[in-house]
Amino acid sequence: MSERVYLDYAATAPLCDAAAAAMAPFMAADAAAVQYNANSLHAEGRASFTALEQAREIAARILGTRAHELYFTSGATESNNAVLFSCVARRLQKSQSTPPHIVTTSIEHDAIFQAAQQLESLGLARVTYVKPLASGHVEPDAIAAAMSDDTTLVSVMAVNNETSAVNDIAAIGELAHERGILFHSDMVQLLGKAPLNLAQLPVDAASFSAHKIGGPKGLGLLYLKAGTPFVPLLVGGGQEHGIRSGTQNVCAAVGFAAALEQYVGTAEDIEEQAVQMRELRDTLYERLCAFPAVRPTVPCERGSSAYAPHIVNVCVTGVESETMILQLDIAGCAVSGGSACSSHSLEPSRVLLELGIDRDTAFGSLRVSIGPETSRADIDYFCKAFEDMLRVASGE
Ligand code: PLP
Repeated sequence: MSERVYLDYAATAPLCDAAAAAMAPFMAADAAAVQYNANSLHAEGRASFTALEQAREIAARILGTRAHELYFTSGATESNNAVLFSCVARRLQKSQSTPPHIVTTSIEHDAIFQAAQQLESLGLARVTYVKPLASGHVEPDAIAAAMSDDTTLVSVMAVNNETSAVNDIAAIGELAHERGILFHSDMVQLLGKAPLNLAQLPVDAASFSAHKIGGPKGLGLLYLKAGTPFVPLLVGGGQEHGIRSGTQNVCAAVGFAAALEQYVGTAEDIEEQAVQMRELRDTLYERLCAFPAVRPTVPCERGSSAYAPHIVNVCVTGVESETMILQLDIAGCAVSGGSACSSHSLEPSRVLLELGIDRDTAFGSLRVSIGPETSRADIDYFCKAFEDMLRVASGE
């Protein structure tokens, strides 16, 4: 294949070198391989257990929490689902007849949104979906207004995966706690894009995914602050202190820890990386929006930290997302139309519609997302491909 420029980091980041190297010994098919059951008592099992716990310690140090507050899952979809279903199970355990009330937003990732809808359709929860502002942000006061005496959980994402709007998680968490309500945040798109210290945030539960930061697919974390009530979604062998049964994927956990060390590191490392990515994001916005057919989906100003540094989202008049993605793919660029999960759907993005963007405009949305390895040359290459694509689309 000729030159390729990968600009779909919000969907997934390529496996990073450090993760690949750390996982290699766990994948070797020989006697020296260290892929054993971390729960076995023999020496092989103990070696795997040590590797798993070291990975957890690294994650705890980088996320600013304690190792025993982190549980390995199969990904953020599972972590998100588990938090919502736990809230219902707790209610059932207490034999309370009224379904719990959950406050969330209408722009959450489907792993929260669909789970909430499913619980509602089964009559197991009442859900209030708070709408965002046109800027893509969720107002803490709007969340507060949606809370009632029987609200048991508030779940609001830290960074939106389509617009990159950064929500004021600290303010929302405080408001939930003032009412004695548990607060969960989907932090998948925040990780590695802004400094994070869980111990300093009023958050009881949070979800993370390894593959968004250069770790392997199929590995996530569920953060549960010590003392947070929780009823497990997966039961069985009682692994992960009974919070998440199932033999742990030690190899993936080790890969995630390596990716965290390479791409997240310290607050200073993230700040430095964010400055570089923000500059590329702003350049990309300026260059794309210089075309008359293009408008930004959200008002992301130069240097703004109200939006995470890795996503550029625009709407293009007169060309549909699918057409753009395929044309740009032929030209060597990998981008997306919205979230990857919905990219096979012919419906416009729910998130964009919730911002008040009309359907026709939303059909022309394009999400370009960058990573720590993205260079100015990649942006130049993409802009040229985009210009050619627009020219073809307008029949020039
Ligand atoms: N939450 C957000 C904000 C995401 O962007 C994603 C990934 O698409 C997920 C949850 C789901 O993560 P995973 O792929 O680990 O299940």
